[in-house]
Amino acid sequence: MAQEDVFKKVVSHCKEYGFVFPSSEIYDGLGAVYDYGQNGVELKNNIKNYWWQYMVRLHDNIVGLDSAIFMHPTIWKASGHVDAFNDPLIDNRDSKKRYRADVLIEEQIAKYEEKIEKEVAKAKKRFGDKFDEAQYRATSEHVLENQAKRDALEKRYQEVMNAPGGIDLDGMKQIILDEEIVCPISGTRNWTDVRQFNLMFKTEMGASADGTSTIYLRPETAQGIFVNYLNVQKTGRMKIPFGIAQIGKAFRNEIVARQFIFRMREFEQMEMQFFVKPGTELEWFKTWKERRMAWHQALGFGAENYRFHDHDKLAHYANAATDVEFKMPFGFKEVEGIHSRTNFDLSQHAKFSGKKIEYFDPEDNTSYTPYVIETSIGVDRMFLSVICHSYDEEKLENGETRTVLHLPAALAPVKLAVFPLTKKDGLPEKAKEIIDALKFHFNCKYEEKDQIGKRYRRQDAIGTPFCVTVDNQTLEDNTVTLRYRDTMEQKRVAIADLQGIIEEQVSIPYLLKNLK
Ligand code: ATP
Repeated sequence: MAQEDVFKKVVSHCKEYGFVFPSSEIYDGLGAVYDYGQNGVELKNNIKNYWWQYMVRLHDNIVGLDSAIFMHPTIWKASGHVDAFNDPLIDNRDSKKRYRADVLIEEQIAKYEEKIEKEVAKAKKRFGDKFDEAQYRATSEHVLENQAKRDALEKRYQEVMNAPGGIDLDGMKQIILDEEIVCPISGTRNWTDVRQFNLMFKTEMGASADGTSTIYLRPETAQGIFVNYLNVQKTGRMKIPFGIAQIGKAFRNEIVARQFIFRMREFEQMEMQFFVKPGTELEWFKTWKERRMAWHQALGFGAENYRFHDHDKLAHYANAATDVEFKMPFGFKEVEGIHSRTNFDLSQHAKFSGKKIEYFDPEDNTSYTPYVIETSIGVDRMFLSVICHSYDEEKLENGETRTVLHLPAALAPVKLAVFPLTKKDGLPEKAKEIIDALKFHFNCKYEEKDQIGKRYRRQDAIGTPFCVTVDNQTLEDNTVTLRYRDTMEQKRVAIADLQGIIEEQVSIPYLLKNLK
């Protein structure tokens, strides 16, 4: 199946099976805002739990926090968001569609790269085993021509992005005109000037006209951690190095919000700020890169589906940064950012609040402003990567197709579905008895409608790893048929053994044990 089709199918599957709904759907929806349905919320909670248990429970020097979404407006001045949390936007006058100017240029660079790759793939096919790829890349006229165009564009792009005094907006527009980039909707080059657009949502706090103040919906959860650094360090008697972890909503008024839950205006982040001694930060950055990659890969999706994208261009306060990218149906995309943020945030808050924010190191009797390594992952993007990777349409021997989500069992919304073979002879009562005993341990679901085959399919479609069928023999010997989602294998087991067989595999610790 083409990857584009996979993505379309995943989006409609999410809606059909109660994972993700467009927000306010009966009012025709609200741009780039989504709601999680009955199965989506379970999967999302399991992802959050997997992160929290790894970060907070397994690291004895990391503690949690839940800070408010509303914060003092000066925080966003200090953090730089009021002045610099902008995206350059451009409108097409004919289609009235709005675009991020930087993204238009990046897509143009990607187009040259695609052309090169297509050319190489074609030659590979043509020459077969004799093909010398390195030589072809170095000598093919077409490849060299596109490579030169790509490199020249990249150079110009870097120059406008890093212009002294901030992004050169006129220069950006000129690139768009020179490259003859057209609007995909209208097909024209009738562009407005490029302008900066601040991504923070504003609202007002206070009831009276003169007593109100403008506040922001937080665009990241990290600042809630920085402004609580002293509280947590003192009350928790934390010794450096230590971390503070938080899961919470963030809001960004994204200009172009596309690709389903990949880019939303209201989303959720799982962030951890790790406070270290100055000079040790690059060593810790390396450690956190390794730890975070191991966490991702413990899900068993295959190492080939992940890669790091190290940043060449760093924010002025960072001295190292990388993205963990996952292979989505629309290419490798950022799921998590890992940043070495120096002491920028704590120093800024010290400056703007007038409070001293330092750490006294008892080991060498020195005081310093800690440096910070940040790991920041989007819950929704993680959700999307999990569901895209798990979605499968399998051709069965009888010619039918089954749609199945091969979710890691620990993340599946429902762990066990219990079916009475028929609705009579006391089978429903027996099935409910099993659920009543097991529901304290994991999420169970009862189903009696339709034939067993159809019930299996419904559970496959939401990724339920285990199904159990109760039949007349169960009433005699207390055994049931246990069916495994991935292999569809069925075997007879004692009811008394069910908890032991299932619980281990569906628990988060089972996943965490994959981590060295
Ligand atoms: P992008 O370049 O894709 O806009 P970013 O580099 O601005 O992302 P960060 O500020 O580093 O993202 O945020 C950390 C994580 O939060 C990202 O890796 C991503 O998983 C998530 N995230 C950021 N913006 C959004 C959004 N609009 N919708 C969903 N998740 C998001």
